[in-house]
Amino acid sequence: MNRSKDKTWKRTHYSKNIDTSLNGKEVIIVGWISSIREHSNVKFLTLNDRFGNIQVILKKNEYPASLTSEIPKIREHASIAIRGKVRSEPKAPNGIEIIPVEFKILSLANKNSPIVIQSRKGIGIDTRLDLRAIDLRRPYLQSIFSIRYTVLNSCREFLRKEGFIEVNTPKIIATATEGGATLFPIFYYDREAFLTQSPQLYKEQLTMAFENVFEIGPIFRAEPSRTNRHLSEATSIDIEKAYAEYNEVMEILESMIHYVRDEVKDKNKSHLEYLKIKLPDISFPFQRYRYSDLIEKLQNVGESIEWGDDISQQRLRNLHDKGIKNFYFIIDWPTSIKPFYVKPKSTGTECESFDLMYENLELSSGSTRIHDKSELVERMKKQGLNIDAFDFHLRVFDYGMPPHAGFGLGLERLLMSICSVDNIRDVVLFPRDIDRLSP
Ligand code: ATP
Ligand code: MG
Repeated sequence: MNRSKDKTWKRTHYSKNIDTSLNGKEVIIVGWISSIREHSNVKFLTLNDRFGNIQVILKKNEYPASLTSEIPKIREHASIAIRGKVRSEPKAPNGIEIIPVEFKILSLANKNSPIVIQSRKGIGIDTRLDLRAIDLRRPYLQSIFSIRYTVLNSCREFLRKEGFIEVNTPKIIATATEGGATLFPIFYYDREAFLTQSPQLYKEQLTMAFENVFEIGPIFRAEPSRTNRHLSEATSIDIEKAYAEYNEVMEILESMIHYVRDEVKDKNKSHLEYLKIKLPDISFPFQRYRYSDLIEKLQNVGESIEWGDDISQQRLRNLHDKGIKNFYFIIDWPTSIKPFYVKPKSTGTECESFDLMYENLELSSGSTRIHDKSELVERMKKQGLNIDAFDFHLRVFDYGMPPHAGFGLGLERLLMSICSVDNIRDVVLFPRDIDRLSP
């Protein structure tokens, strides 16, 4: 009984499918109310569904008297199904409006939301994050997350076309992959374990069996500082390729960035327009700057920086006017400041490594890896790591580990560069940082 009754409320059209060709026809639309405006006894509701919005007009004598007592119950954010007639209205968005014949409030909104749907920047980020699911109804975030969806899809598509297979490695691990400082310890039955900082060691091992692998998954970093580019839980796009060295994976990375940019340009036109974003023009190939040369450039502009120091975001800002901008690589870093698995060049002091940058934001780090066991053990000892704790990893190197190279690309950082977003929290649904563990 109830079933057939409910069926009468099944949506017949999404907002995007209603146009003037339906003039005079009856439709059922379903969604939530994003705005209510009143002009001299006429109420205008905007009903949103996942594809857009539609104007609903409530004018006395046009709708049945039976609706009169129900109308005051409709508040912004309420979920509602409306059966009504389509009417051409050149002044309305999409050129049509709906005159209700009947409606069913599916879920009342009991409170006034502090979040203004149409606002671009919105109110303070903490208030927004406290009610994130409502915040995500804003066209500003809807646009960003549609782009995020395209970016994820196009990275997958690109890597599959390049002959990589997608893998999923453990997120609960026994040993740090890159040194212990930023690990989250957890209880694992009667033992201590950790949340993984990166799939590094597993993806390297998998090159033995599958040659070319990629993973898109969470990485966990206990980042004690509050910055606009660090999350405690981020998404990493990782690749590892057998029989390759760093120049080859840099080429894969820059081709992937081009592919992603073109896909976003093609698939997210309306979102880019809403966000007022002009996608960055990208050269091909990306500029490559040797670490040593950058240090010299920094010293020339008066920075007190020594060979062997890390290059901070702040310092890179000072090279913007010297043409170091847009997407570019910094290559051949000092071995001493890169992780133990990065392969040194023949000089020993420099290594076959790169960071992909956008302006002064690091997007990715990659390198040729050490595939010789004794060399790896040597490097680990130098970095003060406990060799025994890495036995699970080192033991496979006795069975023909192929030479290999790869990178980890931060999805959120990439989105910040594409969407011109300053705060990384706005490109994740439910961000985690030192102050925030919910929602
Ligand atoms: P940074 O110097 O910016 O803190 P990192 O060098 O410590 O980054 P890597 O270990 O090289 O980071 O990780 C590879 C990529 O993963 C980074 O280039 C970045 O895009 C992303 N990433 C790393 N840590 C975070 C984080 N806490 N939040 C968001 N993205 C991150
Ligand atoms: Mg890095």
